[in-house]
Amino acid sequence: MPEPGSMVIIIGDGLGDWPLPELADQTPLEAAPTPHLDRLALEGENGLMDPIAPGVRAGSDTAHLAILGFDPSCYYTGRGPFEALGIGMDVRRGDICFRVNFATVDADLRVTDRRAGRITDGTAQLAAALNGLEHDGCTFLFTASVAHRAALIIRGPGLGPRVSDADPHVEGVSPQIAHGEDDASRKTAALVNWFVMRAHEMLTDHPINRTREAQGLPPANIALPRGAGSAPELPTFHARYGFTGAMVVEVGLVKGIGKYLEMAVMDVPEAHGDLTTDEIAMAKAVVAALTHHPFVLCNLKCPDVAGHDGDAWAKLAAVEKLDRLVGYVREHAAPDTYLAVTGDHSTPVLARDHTGDPLPLLIHGPHTRPDQVAAYGERPAARGGLHRIRGTDLLNLLMSLTLRAEKFGA
Ligand code: ZN
Ligand code: ZN
Repeated sequence: MPEPGSMVIIIGDGLGDWPLPELADQTPLEAAPTPHLDRLALEGENGLMDPIAPGVRAGSDTAHLAILGFDPSCYYTGRGPFEALGIGMDVRRGDICFRVNFATVDADLRVTDRRAGRITDGTAQLAAALNGLEHDGCTFLFTASVAHRAALIIRGPGLGPRVSDADPHVEGVSPQIAHGEDDASRKTAALVNWFVMRAHEMLTDHPINRTREAQGLPPANIALPRGAGSAPELPTFHARYGFTGAMVVEVGLVKGIGKYLEMAVMDVPEAHGDLTTDEIAMAKAVVAALTHHPFVLCNLKCPDVAGHDGDAWAKLAAVEKLDRLVGYVREHAAPDTYLAVTGDHSTPVLARDHTGDPLPLLIHGPHTRPDQVAAYGERPAARGGLHRIRGTDLLNLLMSLTLRAEKFGA
């Protein structure tokens, strides 16, 4: 057998879409000029991919777990742990993790702004005031994320993850009292409720909030945890597959999955998670990572942002970015590298949220079987030789193509 080749999966986040009237009933992928993607679709094999299962609306975290071969119905324990990992927190087995919003409450403890005026400055100092609090033998680790977002880890013995949210998810009402579904989770809930009130006390008179109030801005005077989850019982990527993997991705949630799987998570300063990202810098990082790792996963975030914004023209621009990224990787990676291009879920411009529509998938490499597909897009892909697969099948297909799959049987 020849030497095994390398594998790259390039994911356009939220790539799939619906036909749009302003694009003459084409999808952004079908309408945008994508010379590289179209050539690879012509030369390679194509199909549709359901990231989790047909009709399942995937989140970015569950979809990436599936695409990495970890069935999320077995391994997913909530968004909190992955968010915490993604912003560089040290998540350990037994930890209970939460996503948190800095929010504003009035004197009667009613939430007047769930995002504290989408606060951007000073959140690191506010978070530092809450980080390291201790209560009832447990420690609270707290780190600010992007804008009003933060993550909380509660670490201590005998904690459970089945805890309701303190975040009421609407304004004009008080924070919810967290409840636990079992004894261990009731212990966690009591700690959450203590933390919310302690955070309110400590943030109310914080100098950052005094300054905000003087400027007429809503103070970030409370922290509202939601989305409790325990650290997942995942093997490392290397333990699962016997080879190493790297990630070139923009968003914390996906980085967190890579870190937890002990993959090499590359830092690309030119990647900003929006249309200002330098896609060629990301492509160069993919090519560089391939010199050390046989597997690289790359995620370009901007198609998802455009979909959530309901902005067809931004989605077209995002698709063109993806095309240039893929073109550079194909040109500069070794010829025996197998390249898969797909999405983690659809975020149609008209839906402004994730939908369960399948994604186009192309696989390009030296020994793929060309099919009748000559362009990259949702409808062309439906005629391809890969037909319709699930996300958990993708790495198996690539391992088979690169001669890395174990033989099943004699
Ligand atoms: Zn996504
Ligand atoms: Zn999204």
